[in-house]
Amino acid sequence: MALIDPFARHIEYLRVSITDRCNYRCGYCMPEQGVHPEGHHSQYLNFDELTRIISAFVRLGVKKVRVTGGEPLVRKGVPGFISQISPLPGLKEIALSTNAHHLAKHADALKQAGLDRANVSIDSLKPKLFKEITRGGDLDKVLDGVKAGIDAGLNPMKFNMVVMKGTNHTEIKDMIDFGIEHGVEVRFIETMPIGPAGVSMMDQHYAMKEILRDVKAHVGTDLIPCTNQSHDGPAKNFQIQNTQARIGVISAVSDHFCDSCNRVRLTATGILALCLGQEDSVDLKTPLRAGISDEDLEALIVKAMEKKPERHFFRENVHNIEFRQMVSLGG
Ligand code: SAM
Repeated sequence: MALIDPFARHIEYLRVSITDRCNYRCGYCMPEQGVHPEGHHSQYLNFDELTRIISAFVRLGVKKVRVTGGEPLVRKGVPGFISQISPLPGLKEIALSTNAHHLAKHADALKQAGLDRANVSIDSLKPKLFKEITRGGDLDKVLDGVKAGIDAGLNPMKFNMVVMKGTNHTEIKDMIDFGIEHGVEVRFIETMPIGPAGVSMMDQHYAMKEILRDVKAHVGTDLIPCTNQSHDGPAKNFQIQNTQARIGVISAVSDHFCDSCNRVRLTATGILALCLGQEDSVDLKTPLRAGISDEDLEALIVKAMEKKPERHFFRENVHNIEFRQMVSLGG
């Protein structure tokens, strides 16, 4: 059995949100007061339950798992969880998305547990602006986390910068230099209208063509397209001519990449979300807690793929997607 959706896309990538809590409050992701916790502690899948679902996906051909959140490292015991899933036969890569605030404490243990690599969100290199964007974040802690992650071997690391016109778009050049200094690829992300927070930020949307114009103006050479779908996922990648440095752009709004979507998302409360920008989803927690067999769980997951929509409509119908919060979906 393999996971193939109605549009002949093979699903080989599972993003797993292990918490919808976050120690930061980025304005495009969540409201200032945070999100309503989705209920009692028991609403969240425990690590054994998450492992059982991930194991089913891996038996069905999933090769890559990304652990995300909320902020995954605010949940206790993440290295132990990674060591539960890393031996799964057929699982080729485990990655982490993090704001890196707590990464320095955990980087070695995560690596030893089997984590391959990490993507770190950094929207500004100016401590004051960083604090404003994240509503309280501490850039020094993040930079310590980056260093610890690289030293621990969580490579290739990538930096993710959500570009906001009038807030941080003039820092594109600084992020390029920062990436080059650390030997790390920077990915510039267009704001997406997901949840009330994301929708409210669309007036600061900065499109791929503007981002690439600014990159070119800074590096002063051509950008050579070098996207490798299996490594770069949805990013459009470019090599800076005459260097080894690469940058990526995630143009989810101005130039969507739904045709090549190979992923689905599991929320911390056990909902399988088939598309970042559409409501289609399947509850896996209820059958899991009712004692479903491994075989039936796999069949349920295979059937869920029938619900995967062809594409999102970020551009056409912004208000359709207010029902979801990026902080719950995991990005
Ligand atoms: N806390 C982790 C982190 O900071 O990477 C993981 C979760 S976060 C939701 C995952 C990614 O989603 C981050 O790179 C974040 O910048 C991005 N993100 C959140 N809301 C977004 C939005 N409305 N538009 C574009 N990217 C968004």
